Amino acid sequence: MIIIPKQNPNPKQMERLIAWLKSNGVGVHISQGENRTVIGLIGDTSKIDIDLIRSLDIVEDVKRIQEPFKNANRKFHPEDTIIDVAGVKIGGGNFQIIAGPCSVESEEQIIEVAESVKKSGAKMLRGGAFKPRTSPYAFQGLRGDGLKLLLEAKNATGLPIVTEIMDLNQLNLFDDVDVIQVGARNMQNFELLKELGHTNKVILLKRGLANTLQELLMSAEYIMAGGNEKIILCERGIRTFETYTRNTLDLSAIPVLKGLTHLPVIVDPSHSTGYSKYVMPMALAATAAGADGLIIEVHNNPQYALCDGQQSLTMEAFDKLSKQIEAIRPYAYKYNV
Ligand code: PEP
Ligand code: MN
Repeated sequence: MIIIPKQNPNPKQMERLIAWLKSNGVGVHISQGENRTVIGLIGDTSKIDIDLIRSLDIVEDVKRIQEPFKNANRKFHPEDTIIDVAGVKIGGGNFQIIAGPCSVESEEQIIEVAESVKKSGAKMLRGGAFKPRTSPYAFQGLRGDGLKLLLEAKNATGLPIVTEIMDLNQLNLFDDVDVIQVGARNMQNFELLKELGHTNKVILLKRGLANTLQELLMSAEYIMAGGNEKIILCERGIRTFETYTRNTLDLSAIPVLKGLTHLPVIVDPSHSTGYSKYVMPMALAATAAGADGLIIEVHNNPQYALCDGQQSLTMEAFDKLSKQIEAIRPYAYKYNV
């Protein structure tokens, strides 16, 4: 980090700033130019509050030359992280598809979809039990009962399960869940992230509706700071002025994140586009761009789905999509570290 003080700063205030920086554990290098002094900070500056320094009277500008995230940073961990979900590997060249309905609705529904997506090549089953709905009058999920049905589907098919947690007090119900999803709306629920950092569960962390990639990485950092390094990042579209799609899929998040972090990066073409007809092209594009996997909504009867039917693929469409993904996988962009 570099601090550029204003011209002729008050010497007492300068001394105080330097003493404060040193007390925060960073080395201070002062270079005295003819007209300007520049303060260079040496060491781990991740705990330094850049906005606080910027607000000081004597400071003209502050520039970070190192990212504020450390554990998630590829600079300090050049190798790709490979995450093992009950024997299914993701990251470091291992590409996986997670598929299943938006919400668990009934035993027949979840078992039928689980068996079908497994046959088509999905290696993990998704299904929401606790649902973050915009309207309080919309279906809220089967909650605890939904988790039980998901576990039944796991037992029936052997597929590891991925499901969303919405609140800390639900954590005790997630013991047998293989991947805990933190949804877009909870990406910055810092208390939840901290607590998940103390578990040894794999966390699927989705990008918030209006969050930058650096904010996504800082949320991963919250989990990692607690000791849990098993995080899969997910680009699921961000809110823009465009209305023909539910969100705007930021495909460039894939190369950007792959450069910045060693964590696996997957894409959700369902929530990002909002319409089943756009899922296939975007799933193929994300695969070609080198994503480590996809999470796709599939329903046995999308027309009657209790949630997100319009963006859910039929089981037949998912089967077709998996075959196309398989066909283009050998040509997908590979990230060389
Ligand atoms: C979901 O995956 O069911 C979901 C609600 O996704 P998001 O948090 O990305 O909206
Ligand atoms: Mn959904």
